Amino acid sequence: MSASTPATLRHDWSLAEVRALFLQPFNDLLFQAQTVHRTHFDANRVQVSTLLSIKTGACPEDCKYCPQSGHYNSGLEKEKLMEVHKVLEEAVRAKAIGSTRFCMGAAWKHPSAKDMPYILQMVKGVKAMGLETCMTIGRLDWDQAKALAQAGLDYYNHNLDTSPQFYGSIITTRTYSERLQTLAYVRDAGMKICSGGILGMGESLDDRANLLIQLANLPEHPESVPINMLVKVAGTPLGNAKDTDPFDFIRMLAVTRILMQQSHVRLSAGREAMNEQMQALAFFAGANSIFYGDKLLTTTNPQINQDIQLFARLGILPEEREEHPDEVHQAAIEQALVEQKSSALFYSAVI
Ligand code: SF4
Repeated sequence: MSASTPATLRHDWSLAEVRALFLQPFNDLLFQAQTVHRTHFDANRVQVSTLLSIKTGACPEDCKYCPQSGHYNSGLEKEKLMEVHKVLEEAVRAKAIGSTRFCMGAAWKHPSAKDMPYILQMVKGVKAMGLETCMTIGRLDWDQAKALAQAGLDYYNHNLDTSPQFYGSIITTRTYSERLQTLAYVRDAGMKICSGGILGMGESLDDRANLLIQLANLPEHPESVPINMLVKVAGTPLGNAKDTDPFDFIRMLAVTRILMQQSHVRLSAGREAMNEQMQALAFFAGANSIFYGDKLLTTTNPQINQDIQLFARLGILPEEREEHPDEVHQAAIEQALVEQKSSALFYSAVI
């Protein structure tokens, strides 16, 4: 079977096959990825999510890339769990700037019994606004997964980060099998899975391939696959890691698209450091989801303006929600994009 056979989703990828995808000439790989992408998606739509940190820092895990780990001194200001009403206020702002999904992240090993009622209130409140809901709050047990699903949580993010073989070089406080168990609970509880990994931590090409094989060979593909470029933060063990070749990052996106053909591939952390040409190439390789940033931003924030300008220059529109698209809201976003396109700001954005 050809790797790009459109309508067939595979769950039996071998290392040799995935390695061969990575190693083919760049243009061949991108053409294949774009062909697959167009079979399943509107190539000119990108899903937009907003991420809010609802509890920051002092995490007991030792992920070597993470400034939120309590094991390293990155100078990050710690914040305790946000109050529910403040989270809901931020969700209102996220919707106003065009996000269709609101992701809430807490730097925990796992949520505690004491915190769960607040977490469930946040999910219910955000859901009631008509936004898709997503959380990333650490390892879940079965009861917590069920409670989150019942509260209306659409997506749960729990990244595998890297291959099983390389994982122990990056994290020692949580096992790979614990991560897979959390993903299984999320799936069994009826939620959608968001799970991906990070490039630039010193992993080999085979590690990248093996990460994708883990995800693609799950009984069902994750609906969302974030591919992150390491953000090097001083004070973390990976603060001085070697740069990743931008073309290797694009290759990773393209292979992800080919393996998980109906999943949203998310261009995630590290996007701020990518120039517009690289982001455009990422969309061409099949990335079709972005965060506006790692904090909720206002409409006057330059980051958001830059994103809107780039979308306009590339003719990309934000994707509608899968269920119950809010047509009025969608029309407002599209109108804003048209206005941006014709404004002086748009033309002065060319660097
Ligand atoms: S579990 Fe999450 S927040 Fe905690 S150190 Fe790892 S990546 Fe950071």
